[in-house]
Amino acid sequence: MYIFHKYSDLMSHLEQARKNGKNIGFIPTMGALHEGHISLVKEALTAGQATVCSIFVNPTQFNNPEDLAKYPRTTEQDIALLTEAGCDTLYLPSVEDVYPQGTKLEKPYNLGYLETVLEGKYRPGHFQGVAQVVDRLLKIVKPDTLYLGRKDYQQCMVLKRLADEKYPELTVKIAVTKREPDGLAMSSRNRRLTEPQRALAAIIYQCLVSIQSKQEEQNFPVVKKECEELLEKKGFRVDYIELADAGTLELLENYDPRKKAVALIAAFIGDIRLIDNMEL
Ligand code: AMP
Repeated sequence: MYIFHKYSDLMSHLEQARKNGKNIGFIPTMGALHEGHISLVKEALTAGQATVCSIFVNPTQFNNPEDLAKYPRTTEQDIALLTEAGCDTLYLPSVEDVYPQGTKLEKPYNLGYLETVLEGKYRPGHFQGVAQVVDRLLKIVKPDTLYLGRKDYQQCMVLKRLADEKYPELTVKIAVTKREPDGLAMSSRNRRLTEPQRALAAIIYQCLVSIQSKQEEQNFPVVKKECEELLEKKGFRVDYIELADAGTLELLENYDPRKKAVALIAAFIGDIRLIDNMEL
């Protein structure tokens, strides 16, 4: 696997790949890689693309400095996983290489309603940072296909909007969420869970399953309350449990058979914030 620390070196390398008629598939990550990330890499490889992964813990998308400081970093292990998967190229930059002019965002992105609800509401500025880093990475990598995970449902919508507005030629592919055997969505942050916390973490998934399975027989507010009470009894601090229109993220008061919906949960266990979602 080629590893580049400098964007200029990566750009020259990819220029050559393009000249050789290669299509480029790109998987941006923050590292501490797991099977979820690797599934995206494998999708690009299966499509026969020159597969580029980036590992960059982007400071501008952390609204909580402690979360940034504690974000797991496992570079050696990540390189081994990517090599084993057959990934072609890894971009492993410094903050200065990604942001040579500094991290300050000159002009905010117009993310509209998406920035005001759910993750946008609970993590102010987060999606500006996500859009900023992915915009910069897309300018460097110039991929044909961008691979994202549905685990970060709202992020997918933000980045699709960015792609529609600024990169109309780019194909965005969204992969299903990889889960642990007990249902917990794989996440880099799971590494920080203590054993007792890990044992409880799958309750978030169980709540999503319950929201999904009760759609024919219950009102959503009742199910939501049950889930809230269960999570709180087990020691979680709930940011939100919501039902939303799967296409727009407009919040729904109740189940609506005419609308395709997605249930989304964000909750803290200790100081670790977990998110997950399920389409109904
Ligand atoms: P992250 O390193 O958390 O920024 O994630 C990098 C990419 O991997 C994002 O597009 C995520 O949505 C995706 N991803 C994270 N967790 C999973 C998972 N459990 N299954 C599939 N994709 C995932």
